[in-house]
Amino acid sequence: MSGTRNGERGSGRHTAAPAGHASASSFLVRSAGLAAMLVLFTTCETAESFAPKTAFSGARALEYVRTQLDFGPRVPGTEGHRRAGDWIAQQMRQRADTVIEQRFSHVNTAGDTLPMRNILARIKPAETQRVLYVAHWDTRPISDRASNPADRALPVPGANDGASGVALLMAVADVLKNTPPTWGVDLLFVDGEDYGDFTAGHDVLIGAKYFAQHLPAPDYRPLFGVVWDMIGDANLGIYQEGHSVRRAPEIVSRVWQTAADLGYAGFFVSRVGESITDDHLPLLDAGLRVIDVIDIEFSAHHTPFDTIDKVSERSLQIVGDVAVRLLQ
Ligand SMILES: [Zn+2]
Repeated sequence: MSGTRNGERGSGRHTAAPAGHASASSFLVRSAGLAAMLVLFTTCETAESFAPKTAFSGARALEYVRTQLDFGPRVPGTEGHRRAGDWIAQQMRQRADTVIEQRFSHVNTAGDTLPMRNILARIKPAETQRVLYVAHWDTRPISDRASNPADRALPVPGANDGASGVALLMAVADVLKNTPPTWGVDLLFVDGEDYGDFTAGHDVLIGAKYFAQHLPAPDYRPLFGVVWDMIGDANLGIYQEGHSVRRAPEIVSRVWQTAADLGYAGFFVSRVGESITDDHLPLLDAGLRVIDVIDIEFSAHHTPFDTIDKVSERSLQIVGDVAVRLLQ
């Protein structure tokens, strides 16, 4: 869907000077000149849009996506899950002041006991004014949106759905290590977002629900919070998520205005899109001002094709710039 939108934008650019409709030759020449100028202008604008606008590194974020994929699917209870969790905790110990691991068990509807782990990396933990960033680090055990029924039992690789959000938080931590923020910052990696059945509400948002019931302090109320989910799609188009607009509109305004100020209004679209069940809901229910930034229009969503080629350094850079600028 976002690919189609980009295509429309491209064709619109080429038809901006309708030379074919002109009758006088001088108008044709003028139109051709105008078209050339437009092409030149849009080319410069495009190049400028994709230059980093903060110290965030989209290239490093893409490397963090790749590392996670090397662990295999991060499905709770698997070896890949355990190793990826160890890696995230170890990486964050190198970047944050404090790392807290919340380990717990979850018994799913099938009666299996799953090992769960939230990882909370805290920067300036004594600071009372704080910002909370959240990403889920688990990946979905089944590809239930795959068009081929034979693919539906396969786990989702989770390059975009899982790894992109983790990579974003890690690359934000790289920036904050060099330039400490004014506020305290909490980077929360939640487990078990994508395990179960969203329609029935079973075995999903497991880590976010646990965190909402086990906050770092009883009076823990960040200034604002953002869940970053599926933000690496090469065809980036992020609409405002419905629950966020209804329940924390001032945070939506803050994030979309920051994106517009950076020149990213074409990617952070100022229109309300779908309402999505995601990790922000248990946090909102607990009284925290947290919104969901998610590009739900992702062609490989919950399929075996959610692979590294669907994720781009450019998209990670754009969203990373917004995430960093929000802290400055
Ligand atoms: Zn998912």
